[in-house]
Amino acid sequence: MKNIESLGDLRGKRVLVRSDFNVPLDGDRITDDGRIKAALPTLQHLVKAGAKVVVMAHLGRPKGQVNPEYSLAPVAKRLGELLGAPVSLAKDTVGEDAKRVVSELEDGQVALLENIRFDPRETSKDEAERQELASELAELADVYVSDGFGVVHRKQASVYDIAKKLPSAAGYLVEKEIKSLSRVTENPERPYTVVLGGSKVSDKLGVIANLLSKADRLLIGGGMAYTFLAAKGYTVGQSLLEEDQIEIVKGYLEKAAENGVELVLPIDILTADRFAADATTKVVAADAIPDDLMGLDIGPATRELFASKIATSKTVAWNGPMGVFEFDAFAGGTRAVAKALSEGDAFSVVGGGDSAAAVRLLGFDENTFSHISTGGGASLELLEGKTLPGIAVLED
Ligand code: ADP
Ligand code: MG
Repeated sequence: MKNIESLGDLRGKRVLVRSDFNVPLDGDRITDDGRIKAALPTLQHLVKAGAKVVVMAHLGRPKGQVNPEYSLAPVAKRLGELLGAPVSLAKDTVGEDAKRVVSELEDGQVALLENIRFDPRETSKDEAERQELASELAELADVYVSDGFGVVHRKQASVYDIAKKLPSAAGYLVEKEIKSLSRVTENPERPYTVVLGGSKVSDKLGVIANLLSKADRLLIGGGMAYTFLAAKGYTVGQSLLEEDQIEIVKGYLEKAAENGVELVLPIDILTADRFAADATTKVVAADAIPDDLMGLDIGPATRELFASKIATSKTVAWNGPMGVFEFDAFAGGTRAVAKALSEGDAFSVVGGGDSAAAVRLLGFDENTFSHISTGGGASLELLEGKTLPGIAVLED
């Protein structure tokens, strides 16, 4: 993979950077600016090198239409604060205003193009349409730096097609992500444990199937655990259940046994009488969930069990919260896993948008984890062993 240094002297050059600024918003307030901070090393380097920096990014799912609700204005403001210099936001992506803003850039200044997904060609399945947008983007710059790790698994104009139009390189974030994640996917130090949670099994089927031949231990919590418990023949009350996945999950239980993978399911559950922050809670055994209750977190015995499995591992990858951590009453399982990871000696990687947000929200020091990935889908696809188009296109 080519790095920024391979692009040579960048003074006075227009550098087009793809960043991942898809941050959670409450109105126009950014509730977690982790992704913006993660983009700083590359942007600060380019500023220092005297480049004219043009950043492109997306926010939310505007579905190819201009929609002020998804404007990058709050991001431009926050990015300016973090860089200590104003960032001008173009009113469009490749139109007149983008051209004007880019032409007015001085060496070491940064501009942001408006939400790239306002243009339907960005995510088009039609390669010719994507290439047309990529060509228009290429006219705004001399070189391209790919640093939006959260989107490198997407074959999109600003991620993939653009890299074929300009001299290209990976930014520091992409480099760091790939380096950390390959330590997990290629020859992990063993025991190698993967902790999976989150809402749906169906989101993570691919990764589970793949991990059954790679990991030594698979700890399953979160909403997906109930489909596993159902596959073992237990009833799960009102808990999240994907009935159409039960047969597939039964196959996973068999494959895990065949491969000698230790598949660890919750042994107790923190239930609630309704889906609410102030619900009445009760700890029950995992094989005795009452019909009228729903599991919203792993129970205390499971927290200890998972923590002990993590403590005795050399490599741990974690994706997906153990419970509905957004409600404090059901954040304990997620907190216990985060604590075990941050205190353990294992090489630890946290992936997944909600998992990374949970770690910060629960007040953990990010530096006590080996790596917190900024990409949910991208990190999962790497764990699955897939080749990511946005990375493959940067190979020399
Ligand atoms: P990530 O973004 O880290 O990959 P997911 O998007 O798969 O994670 O899942 C995160 C969501 O899963 C959170 O909003 C959390 O509330 C939800 N969740 C976790 N456990 C449960 C549960 N037992 N019941 C319902 N939802 C759950
Ligand atoms: Mg998520």
